[in-house]
Amino acid sequence: MFGSGSSCNYLRPLRLFTTQVRCRHKKERMADLAKKKFPKDKALEHFDDFYKNVYGPKWPSIRLALLSPHKYCAIVNNFGDSEQTVMDLQNQGALNLRTLYELEESSLKEKEDSENRSEDLEKIFKLDQKMEMIKHSKQIHEYESLYPADENNFRSLDPDSSEERAHSKEANVGSSVPVDQTSLKHSIDNAEIDESRIINPDIGLSSASLYEFVPATKLKGMEDWVLESQHYGFYKRSSDFPVNIKKEDFLHFPKNLEMFIFERGNVSTFPSPKRGSTGVLNYYLMDGGSVLPVLALGLEPGDAVLDMCAAPGGKSLAMLQTLYPGQLVCNDIQESRTNRIYSVFKQYLYDVDKWREQLFITQNDGRTIQDQNLYHKILVDVPCTTDRHSVHENDNNIFKQTRTKERLMIPELQAGLLSSALKLVQPGGTVVYSTCSLSPVQNDGVVHMALQNIWEDSNIQLEVRDLSPALAPLGNIFKFGQNIGLRYGHLVLPFLPCNFGPMYFCKIVRIS
Ligand code: SAM
Repeated sequence: MFGSGSSCNYLRPLRLFTTQVRCRHKKERMADLAKKKFPKDKALEHFDDFYKNVYGPKWPSIRLALLSPHKYCAIVNNFGDSEQTVMDLQNQGALNLRTLYELEESSLKEKEDSENRSEDLEKIFKLDQKMEMIKHSKQIHEYESLYPADENNFRSLDPDSSEERAHSKEANVGSSVPVDQTSLKHSIDNAEIDESRIINPDIGLSSASLYEFVPATKLKGMEDWVLESQHYGFYKRSSDFPVNIKKEDFLHFPKNLEMFIFERGNVSTFPSPKRGSTGVLNYYLMDGGSVLPVLALGLEPGDAVLDMCAAPGGKSLAMLQTLYPGQLVCNDIQESRTNRIYSVFKQYLYDVDKWREQLFITQNDGRTIQDQNLYHKILVDVPCTTDRHSVHENDNNIFKQTRTKERLMIPELQAGLLSSALKLVQPGGTVVYSTCSLSPVQNDGVVHMALQNIWEDSNIQLEVRDLSPALAPLGNIFKFGQNIGLRYGHLVLPFLPCNFGPMYFCKIVRIS
């Protein structure tokens, strides 16, 4: 009864119908997908909302750079064929960061010297004028003693003369004393500086409200998704406490740490690292800004160093390349992450086991480490909103809906880690705090909170080091945030011609 043809004809409308339904579902799914916000979209939305307020007109340029490929720095592996690696990097046109620093440092010094010379000349000129005036008033005095003023004197015709005479007599009291015959240099050195014209950099330029912080746990009802700018609005003005800030004008480049970069405007990229004759990789690639916290530590030979949040181990590896640490403890809270440190070291150190006396990988919560007074230097490279990663990758993104609470708790965790390091480090030792975030709350805000914790809970004396003079020679290589209200640390801003960062770092020395 039912021929194949008729069956086909009978089924055709049904097939058409199912195809249409399938098409509609596909379209709906596509539309849903288009509407769906991925973690990286949320991150960008959040940054647009928050950083626009913080960075104002600078934000569009920072945003563009953040969304563009960033620049790396190649750290030469001293445990491989380092001379060959240096030659290869130079042949690619990469430049040695230390050499660039030294060249710029000496050219800045020359500029400063010539400015000082012209200031000296100006002082000499002013002093010359002053001496002329004194000479002149001395001549008047001599003239007056030869021709004393009286009623008949022509000077009395001047209506202002009596007052003028009174003044000139006052002036002459001084001029009757012999003119100082000290050397010109002595006079210049003693020339008075008008102190009212010196601007104190510590006051007035920063917006205090940018750094205020209250723990996220106090933000009642904010557990769900909130814009950080709103979150930020809840920060209250914390009580004042004294903070010592001292300028530091020297950045030590350990002689064995060879770092290569492409200069500003050069967007060349490094080829992937390759294995040399000893079987280890020839260089390690990391964001150029990441070397700055390592340099800020000011490592010295024999130092006992703790890298409190070390995984995957990039900065630890850079420290090892200096050949300075007597001991290096690489700590991380997660086992999977400590395994990553181990595998990085395996790729770069000729024989990891040979390092048993010197190199330790530990798994602890940095806030509970108890090795007081053991470390000369501690790096606290904290977990943060990893801004560049957050706008590029959905995987492991802190802006995932399920990680909102964790994200809101980040500043508290960071402040806990930094406070712990400040208590652990030896008196005289150094702690460097760093993040790869642009958030003022996670940067200066956390430093402020940790300093306050220490001030309130202990007798530890701390000093923040203002590295601005030391970093000045790097101003052509990195774009440092200026006039953005930074009080304690330094921030490498993403910027297309030199697209490093973001990288915030702050150096704190424990005095006692
Ligand atoms: N310094 C590393 C480098 O240069 O390769 C990057 C560190 S990463 C920004 C932050 C690390 O902190 C993560 O590996 C994370 O597992 C670790 N971390 C998070 N909470 C921690 C805690 N309470 N104590 C120690 N480490 C922690």
